[in-house]
Amino acid sequence: MSTLPFDQRDGWIWLDGEFVPWKEATIHVINHGLHYGSSVFEGMRMYNGKIFKNREHMERLALSAKMLDMDQDIEIDIEGWMKAAIETCEKNNLHDAYIRPIIWRGSEGMGVDARVAKPHMAIAAWSWGKYFSGGADGISLITAPWKKAPPSCTPYQAKCGGLYVTNSLNKHYAVDKGYTDVVVLDWRGQVAESSGANIFAVIDGVLKTPIADCFLNGITRQTALELAPIIGVTAEECVLMLEDLEKASEVFVTGTAAEITPVSKINETEYKVGPVTLAMQEAYVKATH
Ligand code: PMP
Repeated sequence: MSTLPFDQRDGWIWLDGEFVPWKEATIHVINHGLHYGSSVFEGMRMYNGKIFKNREHMERLALSAKMLDMDQDIEIDIEGWMKAAIETCEKNNLHDAYIRPIIWRGSEGMGVDARVAKPHMAIAAWSWGKYFSGGADGISLITAPWKKAPPSCTPYQAKCGGLYVTNSLNKHYAVDKGYTDVVVLDWRGQVAESSGANIFAVIDGVLKTPIADCFLNGITRQTALELAPIIGVTAEECVLMLEDLEKASEVFVTGTAAEITPVSKINETEYKVGPVTLAMQEAYVKATH
């Protein structure tokens, strides 16, 4: 796994339909995505030469692009994007990889009407091990200072670059306080998600996760809900408050990068890595491999 800064690595990046040398996949400083956050992206993983839920990720990318009015200017081509993602891994000799497709508004124009700048698309892939180092024993979460806005305030279903500002600020807060990550509450005070993953808790033997009505409905979250009955666990999407998490016997987070990562502490409450988390991790490894 390379530790070089990202712009100094070797390899190939798929850019607007062609492979370009990694170091040459650059953009101009006058770039709409950079100035106005007009980008949508995905994070996917390839395991043993196969991209897990390639289609579902590309479908969410298409949804994100539509939500940002990009589909007026870019052809939505799920099949083509899926193929390009596989080819990007092949071109870089990767069998296990993190894959980052991104669509952004470019340098053709500047202004609040984003449509003056054309969407461009790139797919990069690289080796990336565990998202949370030391995650096997569980990560620690602290209540975040920044909340999720009501659904009328942000296109929350979109995985949009501009929406990640508060995620980063929340993550900075957690790290500065000695925690790994955050529990983000929504504007109602209900538990929403983490800075880059969704949250599950086992309460009275039932696996519970918040309803994704103002935050990203993670593909790993959906996978965990599908896997729950297979491992013999009742799962439910419901309102969760911080006090509910205090009563939980197990907590874990889910995400493409995070996979299934146990939580050992939320604020002052401590948790053990329990049987549901372990069974879910095992089922997720089976599903992805
Ligand atoms: N929430 C946020 C804010 C995220 O960045 C991610 C990672 N994409 C998730 C949840 C989990 O989504 P997924 O399982 O689709 O990776």
